[in-house]
Amino acid sequence: MVDIVQVIKDRDPNEREFHQAVGEVMESVAPVIEQHPEYRRARIIERIVEPDRVIMFRVPWVDDKGDVQVNRGFRVEMNNAIGPYKGGLRFHPSVNLSILKFLGFEQVFKNALTTLPMGGGKGGSDFDPKGKSDNEVMRFCQSFMAELFRYIGPNTDVPAGDIGVGAREIGYLFGMYKKLTNEFTGVLTGKSVNWGGSLMRPEATGYGSVYFAAEMLNSRNQTLEGKVCLVSGSGNVAQFTTEKLIELGAKVVTLSDSSGSIYDEEGIDREKLEFVKILKNIRRGRIGEYVDIYPNAVYTAITPEMEYNPLWDHRADCAFPSATQNEINGKDAQNLVNNGVALISEGANMPTAPEGVDIFMDNGILYGPGKAANAGGVSVSGLEMTQNSMRLSWTREEVDNRLQMIMRSIHKTCTEAAEQYGKPGNYVAGANIAGFIKVVNAMLDHGVV
Ligand code: NDP
Repeated sequence: MVDIVQVIKDRDPNEREFHQAVGEVMESVAPVIEQHPEYRRARIIERIVEPDRVIMFRVPWVDDKGDVQVNRGFRVEMNNAIGPYKGGLRFHPSVNLSILKFLGFEQVFKNALTTLPMGGGKGGSDFDPKGKSDNEVMRFCQSFMAELFRYIGPNTDVPAGDIGVGAREIGYLFGMYKKLTNEFTGVLTGKSVNWGGSLMRPEATGYGSVYFAAEMLNSRNQTLEGKVCLVSGSGNVAQFTTEKLIELGAKVVTLSDSSGSIYDEEGIDREKLEFVKILKNIRRGRIGEYVDIYPNAVYTAITPEMEYNPLWDHRADCAFPSATQNEINGKDAQNLVNNGVALISEGANMPTAPEGVDIFMDNGILYGPGKAANAGGVSVSGLEMTQNSMRLSWTREEVDNRLQMIMRSIHKTCTEAAEQYGKPGNYVAGANIAGFIKVVNAMLDHGVV
């Protein structure tokens, strides 16, 4: 079998995150490829690691001082074997082609697990919305869409939000798309409910990650009630993960942002979470301000020189990494295990570095990888597309029921695929194998294209 990780390393040596994501999937699917010579004959592996298309463009905009700024925009249309490209847009200074190719690659398999007909893509910009005025964000979004609109459409490619892209940005992007095309259509998901959005979309990723955790615990006859939980991040996914955990009787003791983390031993209750939502979503402040209001909590700043993240070094039962990729290194993973954590449900994409994953596996942790555990967000995006096509809106209960059904189905699919290939209880193998088989079989059906 071709060593595809070496091939992509030789071809694009700087794409570290992409190599990591491909390496993890290839390790899981090696036994599948072994059993299917038709995959090898069709050079499926060589084809699946190459995006269908990469679009890169200049995004010029004028800041509030009247100065011209220039950012870089991207859309990676990774694979549309089972449906239109679908995946978020990320606005963050760290964004580059490697990160978007890794996210697009993960998205392909994640979307395949959801049971909905969606291909995989990802995009974004190195633009940093932090510290920008609403008008600056609007002008940036308009310039970004002035180029992107040529390549997307409700049956072609349907972007959504991700880090740095929330309801405000989706609104500005949609407004510009509508103006340029003169079409009111479901070209983006994560829209506001009064102009085509789905109820429960904001909650979906966080709630879904908790539903997945509940399914994993159920396999060991346990529930989330009374469990002490570590949550990282304080954005969309972290907020709604915390909300659902509180509702199910768990106690959340941490939150973070890229500057540091808070530890509140008494637990973050509904009132405290409401404060965090206003702080992050409306005031756009920093999580450190939590301790000004709740002085019994402790704030720890994080610096690049730290060998481990103090957030993962507290006594707990469960952890929900919900900030960004590679936020749990080997040392963090060991700290989690030493502190009694027995379940990890990844709200973020690839938050655990490979050495961390090995530690979780060696210690029999219930480990739900992002591609399964955080698939609730894209699932409800898929449901938003369905509602847009039908020109209907479902109730909150209806969407939530469907979300719960999908998360249960993903859990079952992962469990069965892992068992079938001799890796019982290994959700990483299960998710990769099940997603991979669905996509590559569709690719085979379509011929060499
Ligand atoms: P938000 O922008 O709402 O929040 C991101 C959070 O993570 C913020 O608290 C942010 O802190 C923190 N963060 C971002 N970058 C870093 C970094 N380099 N180091 C430390 N902390 C960081 O994004 P989301 O909540 O939407 O996304 C969080 C994760 O979930 C991402 O991995 C995303 O890909 C994944 N995801 C999101 C989905 C969704 O529906 N939104 C769907 C599936 C996965 P700060 O404010 O300092 O930047």
